[in-house]
Amino acid sequence: MTEHFDIVLRQGHLLDGDGHPVDLGIRDGVITAIAPRLEATAEHDLDIQGCLISPPFVESHIHLDSALTAGEPRWNQSGTLFEGIQIWGERKRSLTLDSVKQRALEALKLQASHGVQYVRTHADVSEPSLTALKALLDVRETVQDWMTVQVIAFPQDGIYSNVQNEALLEEALKLGADGVGGIPHYELTREDGVRSVHRIFALAQQYDRLIDIHCDEIDDPQSRFLEVVAACALRQAIGHRVTASHTTAFASYDNAYAVKLMGLLRRSRINFIANPLINLTLQGRADSYPKRRGITRVKELWQQGLNVSLGHDCIQDPWYSLGNGNLLDVAHMAIHACHMTGQAEILACYDMVTRNGLQTLGLLPETAQRGSLLCQGQPANLLVLEAPTAFDVIKNRAVVMVSIYGGRLLLRRKPRALYWSLPSPETHGTSDENDKSLGNLSDP
Ligand SMILES: [Zn+2]
Repeated sequence: MTEHFDIVLRQGHLLDGDGHPVDLGIRDGVITAIAPRLEATAEHDLDIQGCLISPPFVESHIHLDSALTAGEPRWNQSGTLFEGIQIWGERKRSLTLDSVKQRALEALKLQASHGVQYVRTHADVSEPSLTALKALLDVRETVQDWMTVQVIAFPQDGIYSNVQNEALLEEALKLGADGVGGIPHYELTREDGVRSVHRIFALAQQYDRLIDIHCDEIDDPQSRFLEVVAACALRQAIGHRVTASHTTAFASYDNAYAVKLMGLLRRSRINFIANPLINLTLQGRADSYPKRRGITRVKELWQQGLNVSLGHDCIQDPWYSLGNGNLLDVAHMAIHACHMTGQAEILACYDMVTRNGLQTLGLLPETAQRGSLLCQGQPANLLVLEAPTAFDVIKNRAVVMVSIYGGRLLLRRKPRALYWSLPSPETHGTSDENDKSLGNLSDP
């Protein structure tokens, strides 16, 4: 019997499939059939010819309010986190609702073009008008047909560095932020840092929100707020709702302390986000040689079974003038910076920008906790990438050929092609990648 679908993808390789190509049928926003061959008609019938079918990319840590402002009002010449915070302090005085919205939308489109379908953004809530937060809450609604956005209220300047900041953070939660953030290592004193973590947990409980703290984003081995965050999460048994972002100081702790800390982290079950592009460029700035990498213990956290995801953090802003929203660049950098070059480790880094990110955001469906995101009954949020396996996708930084969100076709792209002019017959008209199994994406 011939079935009718909204979309059928023909002869693709599932990320966690058995290596044989399959047809995948989508109806009413859900993956409704997967089989070697589907007898089917569809609104969009796409022959994807051996390309990879993958869950979408998840951007678990980005600052959309500062995105695309690099060089305004001046460039970060020292390259340090603290000069970045100073420049942002000057730039944010001239923010308007419209300008933040426009830049955030532009950045989200850039991310969507690279297959990102979920974004957790921080919104700076250290200035009295809360312009950045209001704009990003607005954007969250504007894009809901093509992107899921979470907004974290982030007190960039600290909760206790200024008398008004604590109230601004709470006001942000009243206005509808999805989560509460913090920056304990940037508070004026160690005591203020600890107090800020306790305040964050109290607010999260009072307003029933997620927690995502910029935690120990510094090379200082004495910056030890991660243990405070993990202990609070453990005592309240809410580790799955808590994220420690950056934790770069973890790379500078001596091993005796790190081993003890790892035991607490295992018990707390909190989530971790590393931002390799930014950690590598902002940290180690006070070192001569040997120079630290300034990236948290990604490999060891992963080996302990803790949930680690990877974020871009910045796209063309006072902290990082580069970046285009492509999470394959982030995964690729993590593989190098974290010594994750084993086959299983490379695939783990792919998970860190897909399903682990969903888990960090608290959006991994219950039914996919132990299984695949690409099986019958799962939401039809997925990508087709121009390579047959996740390994090849990372190796080639494969482009997104198709993005399907909520069962609707979001974008399609023509394959890249390279035509040699050299007089060798076997070099004529081949793809620019070295995999010959991929043909043209056709839509009969
Ligand atoms: Zn950040």
